[in-house]
Amino acid sequence: MKWYTQDPVYDSILLFAFILTAAAAVGAFVLKTPYGRFGEGRLGIKLGPRFGWFLMELPASVVFLVFYFTGERPFEPVPLVFLFIWCVHYLNRGFLFPYLIRVAPGHRQTFNLSVVASGWIVTAMHGYLNAAFITTFGGHFSSGWLSDPRFIAGVVIYYSGLFLNLHSDRILRNLRPAGPVQEGPRYKIPYGGGFRLVSCPQYLGELIAWSGFALCTWSLAGVFILLISAANLVPRAISTHAWYGEKFPDYPAERKALIPFVF
Ligand code: NDP
Repeated sequence: MKWYTQDPVYDSILLFAFILTAAAAVGAFVLKTPYGRFGEGRLGIKLGPRFGWFLMELPASVVFLVFYFTGERPFEPVPLVFLFIWCVHYLNRGFLFPYLIRVAPGHRQTFNLSVVASGWIVTAMHGYLNAAFITTFGGHFSSGWLSDPRFIAGVVIYYSGLFLNLHSDRILRNLRPAGPVQEGPRYKIPYGGGFRLVSCPQYLGELIAWSGFALCTWSLAGVFILLISAANLVPRAISTHAWYGEKFPDYPAERKALIPFVF
């Protein structure tokens, strides 16, 4: 099947990725993905969140690097810029974020193996589709792309989103004390930063970042990771917002779930 890059393997995987995204969008509204606050009381093999996150995100780094360096133009300027963006992103998400997670006492096994397995399909396709596009199929990545308004705006949007995501992750992490012995409630109300306006600014930051990435790569591979992230994170933000309201009677009433002043 050839409909985008004219490479039958790439185009078939891309089509499958969009079909999977549609299925994930429907599935995520029906079933809350079983990890974290929604991971307990559900059947299945459970992992610790640190190991679960690390395993789930690993293909995004490994598969990307394999297809990046076996592609046609890995050492040209534009691909190298995207390589930098990718490596910093997944150094955080795949390694630092899991390492820094503060696990609540008594809640050590909250990451369902089914999440890792389904995550692998997504992270592996994400790594392949983007790496192959960046170094082989992206015909518009000559050096002139670095001064294209889509590239410049996309990079600015990407880093704005990443900043919001990292800052919000940090606020959540600091709600639990560091160190092996932890006491106190598992969950508290987060305050400050993006939490002034929404319950899930970490998800909003993630979605802004992937919007910027889709724009600066001007690719359907970028659109894929944006859409599948939205398919996961929009329903989860709505569920999390409702959960906060039920759990904390003093939860700030003016906060929205994901988009400030909208929902
Ligand atoms: P959370 O941001 O809800 O949880 C992150 C960590 O903070 C967990 O350790 C969690 O503990 C803890 N935590 C959350 N809320 C509180 C609270 N109120 N009080 C104390 N501790 C809290 O969610 P995710 O795990 O879903 O997301 C983590 C990151 O991964 C985010 O930056 C998100 O954007 C990104 N992500 C990206 C996806 C994508 O498709 N691109 C998909 C999913 C996540 P516990 O585990 O005990 O709940």
